[in-house]
Amino acid sequence: MKIGLFGGSFNPPHKGHLYLAEKCASALGLDRVLIIPSNIAPHKSSVSYVSGEDRLNMCRIAFDSPLFEVSEIELDRGSTSYTVDTLRELRKIYPDDEFYFIIGSDMLESFTKWYLWETILELCTLCAAPREKGFIPDFSPYTPEQRKKIVYLDFEPLEISSTEIRIRLKSNSGCEELVDKNVIDYIRSHGLYDDGFDSYREIMTRMLDETRLYHCECVSEAAGELAALYGADTGKAKLAGLLHDITKMMSAQEHLSLIGDGLTPLERSNHKVWHQMSAPVFLRNNGIVTDEEILSAIRWHTTGKADMTLLEKIVYTADFISADRDYPDVDTVRKLSKISLEHAMLYTSRYTVRDLTEHDRCVHPSTLDCYNSMIEHFMTDNNNKVDEV
Ligand code: ATP
Repeated sequence: MKIGLFGGSFNPPHKGHLYLAEKCASALGLDRVLIIPSNIAPHKSSVSYVSGEDRLNMCRIAFDSPLFEVSEIELDRGSTSYTVDTLRELRKIYPDDEFYFIIGSDMLESFTKWYLWETILELCTLCAAPREKGFIPDFSPYTPEQRKKIVYLDFEPLEISSTEIRIRLKSNSGCEELVDKNVIDYIRSHGLYDDGFDSYREIMTRMLDETRLYHCECVSEAAGELAALYGADTGKAKLAGLLHDITKMMSAQEHLSLIGDGLTPLERSNHKVWHQMSAPVFLRNNGIVTDEEILSAIRWHTTGKADMTLLEKIVYTADFISADRDYPDVDTVRKLSKISLEHAMLYTSRYTVRDLTEHDRCVHPSTLDCYNSMIEHFMTDNNNKVDEV
């Protein structure tokens, strides 16, 4: 038999997953496809994971066809789910069958960083397909023999991600086109992806439009991921991310009455920094947030400053890498944010300074302080490193 193996977090499973599996199955003539929810994915933060049991149940609903079988192999094994271990285990169960391991192009991009990736290519054929339009695979890391074990199916992608769905579920934006209706019913009836922030959302809905609300949800998700990666409090990071732009749509008068006399002449003429100053005052005055760490992360999210705390760095960076951002360098910044927050912040503060000066606009002194403190950070760490970032 030709068996497709499709691993993922499936948090939750969506129509992009189903589409990928069905397309690969028909292109390769697969007899069946095992859907394998991971226990802990090596390349992902598990901060927004729902339980393995719920992901298993949602997969059973989403992949409801005789072609598919949902496998508990990685959840039963526990700990980090390495694909090579799964393939070795499955080889014992299916000694004579051909394995095709199905992945999206984002996974293909990082495949040579997977644990024992060469062995994986000995145990199966990799079957990859694009996640986004215009993706061009890079096969240069592979030997001719390895290249033969990679099939790239260049069909029209369905650009959907579980991240986007988790965000939409929280902000109550519809996701019926992205997820099976029965999976949505399961999510709702089991209270999944509920972060307990609905009372904050109620206030925000009155103050922001749909696009800004969606952006806040995206920053909240990104801040949670960064917090998990760098050992910060994920709850505080998510809440600070959610609320960071709460006053963004206030009138000038409202901003100024919250900020009071606190503006320098330069700030008075630059309304783009007002919301980072008015938001903590608004949140504190109304008893919405009293936690000073959260308030301070919101206070500095636009300009940054020197010597930022971990939470401040997280919210500042999350605002640059959130899922809704699509400026030209965003993928670079996302990659840098996984190396270190400082790598990302040197890049973004440099980008901001350059952009403002190119347009003959004032640079807030705190942004310069932020940039300089990043330079200092790399100087003291390693004199040669600054140029590489
Ligand atoms: P998240 O947004 O939480 O990172 P995800 O949408 O990437 O999740 P996973 O469960 O991590 O979903 O993905 C499992 C596999 O499915 C991966 O190989 C991924 O590349 C692939 N995949 C996910 N969504 C799509 C899609 N829309 N098109 C093609 N492949 C996809």
